[in-house]
Amino acid sequence: MTSPHASDADQALAVLGRVFGYDSFRGQQREIIEHVIGGGDALVLMPTGGGKSLCYQIPALVRPGVGVVVSPLIALMQDQVDALRAAGVRAGFLNSTQDLEERRLVEAEFLAGELDLLYLAPERLRVESTLRLLERGTISLFAIDEAHCVAQWGHDFRPDYLQLSQLHERWPDVPRIALTATATRATHAEIASRLKLQDARHFVASFDRPNIQYRIAPKNEPRKQLLALLRGEHEGDAGIVYCLSRASVEKTAAFLVEHGIEAVPYHAGLDARTRAENQSRFLREDGLVVVATIAFGMGIDKPDVRFVAHLDLPKSVEGYYQETGRAGRDGLPSTAWLAYGLNDVVQQRRMIDTSEGDEEHRRRLAAHLDAMLALCETVECRRVQLLAYFGQESGPCGNCDTCLTPPKTWDGTVAAQKVLSTVVRLKRERGQSFGVGQIVDILLGRKTDKVIRFDHDALSVFGIGTDLTEAQWRGVVRQLLAQGLLAVQGEYNTLALTDDSADVLAGRREVPLRSEPEKPARTSTKSGG
Ligand code: ADP
Ligand code: ZN
Repeated sequence: MTSPHASDADQALAVLGRVFGYDSFRGQQREIIEHVIGGGDALVLMPTGGGKSLCYQIPALVRPGVGVVVSPLIALMQDQVDALRAAGVRAGFLNSTQDLEERRLVEAEFLAGELDLLYLAPERLRVESTLRLLERGTISLFAIDEAHCVAQWGHDFRPDYLQLSQLHERWPDVPRIALTATATRATHAEIASRLKLQDARHFVASFDRPNIQYRIAPKNEPRKQLLALLRGEHEGDAGIVYCLSRASVEKTAAFLVEHGIEAVPYHAGLDARTRAENQSRFLREDGLVVVATIAFGMGIDKPDVRFVAHLDLPKSVEGYYQETGRAGRDGLPSTAWLAYGLNDVVQQRRMIDTSEGDEEHRRRLAAHLDAMLALCETVECRRVQLLAYFGQESGPCGNCDTCLTPPKTWDGTVAAQKVLSTVVRLKRERGQSFGVGQIVDILLGRKTDKVIRFDHDALSVFGIGTDLTEAQWRGVVRQLLAQGLLAVQGEYNTLALTDDSADVLAGRREVPLRSEPEKPARTSTKSGG
């Protein structure tokens, strides 16, 4: 335990005003800053935009010596350092983008005690000469930014982070502060143990962003749905639209421009100049829409982003939370909108199956996807589910789609059995596997060319599903995939049973399903189209 002297607190407040131009601390900043100035270790979990930077910058300015900041965001270091220098802070960085001369200059400043803050890429600390350099100077603290990168279970693991535990061994008396905006309970514990932060005080801010309205809509025609959202609720607003692929980024941006919305693309395939230009336009202008891959946004600090839209399913809840968290940093009402459909599940399951890496790695990816799918398919408050993922309990928010229009549920056990038995019969009786389209055609009893060609109208399951519409059957399949009761296989994305399917077929397990919002389930009869 550390009890800061009154003078530490006064100094911190003075630096806050003099250097950063703010008159009061936010949330837990004051406690964290006083704790670190007093020499204590800290593990800080604070959502993006919460104000983590000041938590190490101010102690570094108050304590004697140089604050060493480890950050994986090499692309942002120059900007961060420029901003600090503009505020009169003596800051520098060392990373792979510099030539030898630039590096030497920073090293000399460090040794001469002419720096307050030194930003380092984690791989620098693998180099013995860097460690020796640090030993020759006085270090006020180590700040480990984006600390979740040390967690192997996380979505952003960087092997270079593992060796950061040695900082404690080499500099036992230098306080360390690890910061992250993304950590579940499990990652949180992993960060503490891997960085040897057993004695650190934990500061966990609320992850709730009450001004963000979370909505997850069924995906039909995503671009048109997006356009309706922008025209209906966000005319002239700044926002970010995330797509999975570069091609769909380009197409979506062009589509919006065609429909009179000011939009620019952003992805790693564009040349650096166009990227920088589009990013700075977004920061500078009012009401520009950036259509981007997830390469966009790390470290972007624009307060008035009114909406974040996802046209494809994020790979994890952490990713979703971080990306949507870029909306509404000014505290004003904002929208997080995601379009999600059957193909997202098929595509992502396939991507995991064919991904590089070992079984363990694939299991991890699948667990992340399952959590994301559970959020999409939940009939409970989205916020409750989201916060629970980060280990935080809460009550229904009244400001998400499921709170505002509670979805209906129905007993989908029989429907699930129909789908699964169709898959089983094709396999057992014909030795065949087919994708969603053919299964649905068989269930609906449609005599398509493909049905006739394969003689599928002779199957006993042909036409057993005329009680539901095509959209409803696709919803059933999507939810079975999401619940792990059905799998996709091979290059044609054919459907197959999983270990858990047998329980459903045998009637040992019920399958509650969420109604598809367009039409209530089970009320319609035969559908031709
Ligand atoms: P994070 O790293 O947690 O995403 P930042 O440290 O980048 O957040 O801070 C987000 C924004 O909030 C920045 O513009 C920062 O200047 C501002 N900010 C941080 N602390 C305060 C404060 N005490 N008063 C006013 N603005 C603050
Ligand atoms: Zn809610």
